[in-house]
Amino acid sequence: MTKPHNFSAGPGILPEEVLKQASQACINFDNMNLSLLEISHRSKNYEAVIEESQSIIKELFEVGNDYEVLYLGGGASLQFAMVPYNLLRENGTAAYVNTGVWASKAIKEAKIIGNTNVIASSEDKNFNYIPKGYAIPTNADYLHITSNNTIYGTQLKQFPKSPIPLVCDMSSDIFSRKINANDFTLIYAGAQKNMGPAGSTMVMVKKDALGKTGRKLLSMLDYQVHIKGGSMYNTPPVFPIYVTLLTLKWLKQNGGVAWIEKINQQKADLLYNEIDRNSLFFGTTTVEDRSNMNACFLTNKPELEPEFDKLWKEANISGIRGHRDVGGYRASMYNALPLASVQVLVDTMKEFEKKFA
Ligand SMILES: *Cc1c(COP(=O)(O)O)cnc(C)c1O
Repeated sequence: MTKPHNFSAGPGILPEEVLKQASQACINFDNMNLSLLEISHRSKNYEAVIEESQSIIKELFEVGNDYEVLYLGGGASLQFAMVPYNLLRENGTAAYVNTGVWASKAIKEAKIIGNTNVIASSEDKNFNYIPKGYAIPTNADYLHITSNNTIYGTQLKQFPKSPIPLVCDMSSDIFSRKINANDFTLIYAGAQKNMGPAGSTMVMVKKDALGKTGRKLLSMLDYQVHIKGGSMYNTPPVFPIYVTLLTLKWLKQNGGVAWIEKINQQKADLLYNEIDRNSLFFGTTTVEDRSNMNACFLTNKPELEPEFDKLWKEANISGIRGHRDVGGYRASMYNALPLASVQVLVDTMKEFEKKFA
């Protein structure tokens, strides 16, 4: 059987050639006749990996040297704590927009560290839309938003014009579309959704925003310590960083973010058009806030779910079961997913309608 059409929500699909290069590096990295897994992170061969992976992030984001790039452990979830710990002043307040489970978890950590103000939320409708038109308090230390809500399938199409430092969790749509990264003070993303494997989290931060909290920081939780150590204060997640670098090089070589944004739009249009056309399916979110990365949909005949499940499994589709908080189906269409895989899913939905409508 050939490789399934992989719609996994995360860890998500990676390009085939990246997986091949990564497996090669496990045996013989950089013609050293040593595995990448058994060499010093301080070797010059690996230092080149860290440096290139930092510079490719800046290049793709089109930012200058006022930003630093780090690769840290602990997942995006550790950033829920590190962000307020490093940016929220002792007597300051942080503003948060609550758009789902991940944002709620970020808010929970911030509340432990200091004053937190949830200025907008879509919890009233099970997070099926993006709140808009809220006022941003100008005296808060920062505004935290989530660009794409992986579980509910909503995405910020327009970022708020923020008078205060803007912090964004981009875990599930980083490098999926053009953004103006210079509008952000800090961007973080767990790699395993759209830029690499699990195990490393990218943090890009404006240097001049740091060191202002009045708090004495634990070393491992201090961005400045990691910056000073060149993202190697301690042993970094060497292999996840390498695979992330390969994935970003794949993106760049094929035409970069502008190239993938077009394809991601084609994939999303193809699937959402079918969800809207097909008499047996409907989308779960507000149309204008639909995510191009994670499309959530239900069938209006839930008793037929086992039949649809049979069909998509026969079509060699994998990973479209919905999150337990939403139910139904979720098709994640990350950068590495080919348009052809979405076409297979759409054909399967059509077949389902033909048989059962
Ligand atoms: C998956 C996800 C997280 C959590 O990431 P971990 O690396 O598992 O901690 C946070 N935010 C968003 C938007 C996510 O999709």
